[in-house]
Amino acid sequence: MSKKKLIVIGGGAAGFFCAVNAARMNKDLKVILIEKTHKLLSKVKVSGGGRCNTTHACFDIVEMSKKYPRGGNFVKKTFHQFFTTDTINWFKERGVELKTETDGRMFPVTDSSQTIIDCLMTEVKKYNVEVFISTEVRNLKSENGEFTIELKDHKHFTSDYVCIASGGYPKPSMFEWLRKLGHSIEEPVPSLFTFNMPGHPIRELMGVSVESARVKITGTKLEQEGPLLITHWGLSGPAVLKLSAWGARELASKNYDFKITVNWLPEYNEHQLAEKFQLFRVSIATQKITNKNPLGLPARLWDFLLIYSEVKGEKRWADLPSKEANKLIKNLCTCEFEVKGKTTFKEEFVTAGGIKLNEIDHITMMSKKVPNLFFAGEVMDVDGVTGGFNFQHAWTSGYIAGKTIAQSS
Ligand SMILES: Cc1cc2nc3c(=O)[nH]c(=O)nc-3n(C[C@H](O)[C@H](O)[C@H](O)COP(=O)(O)OP(=O)(O)OC[C@H]3O[C@@H](n4cnc5c(N)ncnc54)[C@H](O)[C@@H]3O)c2cc1C
Repeated sequence: MSKKKLIVIGGGAAGFFCAVNAARMNKDLKVILIEKTHKLLSKVKVSGGGRCNTTHACFDIVEMSKKYPRGGNFVKKTFHQFFTTDTINWFKERGVELKTETDGRMFPVTDSSQTIIDCLMTEVKKYNVEVFISTEVRNLKSENGEFTIELKDHKHFTSDYVCIASGGYPKPSMFEWLRKLGHSIEEPVPSLFTFNMPGHPIRELMGVSVESARVKITGTKLEQEGPLLITHWGLSGPAVLKLSAWGARELASKNYDFKITVNWLPEYNEHQLAEKFQLFRVSIATQKITNKNPLGLPARLWDFLLIYSEVKGEKRWADLPSKEANKLIKNLCTCEFEVKGKTTFKEEFVTAGGIKLNEIDHITMMSKKVPNLFFAGEVMDVDGVTGGFNFQHAWTSGYIAGKTIAQSS
């Protein structure tokens, strides 16, 4: 009897995980992996600034699922089958140790994404997965229980199972070959980007960061708290990246033209800070405002906010006019900025949107439209915030698809 065949489309994290696990779990299955570019695992290579933020040290499924602006409920169900501990163990069993950084991000101890690539390439060889690079799939047809995979050069493959792990596509037109299969697509929009503030003087403080700030998008319910970094273009850091992810669709609809307010001291509101200022007028009455920065902000930011609020820093705290004090308090708690445009966050970016999740079975990753067609990774309408969550979804969905195919063939 001839061997059953699986073709995996896409040589990224999800495609590799599906291919190697299917081949490992069923030695009678012929597994072929097809990649359109001449490079395999290219995103893994550049991920996490070349270190590959492989997963996140979160061991609670409900908590973990809250890190996905789209697809949280879906991944919650999939994590019961393959979670962060499984990722850590899977790589450990293959000689790759992961370490945890203070913010929970996990990286290989080598601090090199090549370690993850080498591990996956070793598995591909070990289980005889046949890999084709520079091979682009143009169309996919399913007839009488058999798939025909049409390639760019007019050649074709046939197979019994197909797993689509083609990643996120930035343009709706790129999903056309998947739409033709009967699937619906959630429109793609970018996620994980930083905010541009062209011409704003605060950009001169590039490199200055605060440990915690609250950023709100005016006129929406979107707000996030966390580290904030001033860059050459505007604002970045976890607070902004989380906002860009949770607001991906809303901000796209505003054409990335919106207003934000920043609370540089999120433990205070304007009223509480005004009370604090009254205390400063007594406790540090004779000190110059410019010299004494009693709220622990970075010195350059404090000086900037004084100038921005037209506060004469040479004055003593006791002599600070209430009009100047009020302006400073406002700029400390609700500093307004205009955002015009975005910049791709080089460490990690993803596309929100993709195959609609109600068309995929969460237990198997199989299409509800086409039998024996599976999906894994970013091609699905799932995306996480920055921190290793996107790879965890790629590992989980790739593993489940691979296991299901191995067991049913
Ligand atoms: C710069 C950068 C850094 C990142 N860093 C991190 C990080 O540290 N941690 C984290 O969790 N996430 C990170 N991400 C996100 C993460 O890389 C992705 O979510 C993840 O790679 C998705 O894996 P995937 O296999 O689904 O898709 P991809 O990695 O995009 O792989 C899909 C593959 O399919 C191929 N393909 C597409 N269409 C076809 C076709 N028609 N025929 C054949 N092949 C096709 C593509 O060429 C591609 O190689 C980063 C992303 C970027 C861009």
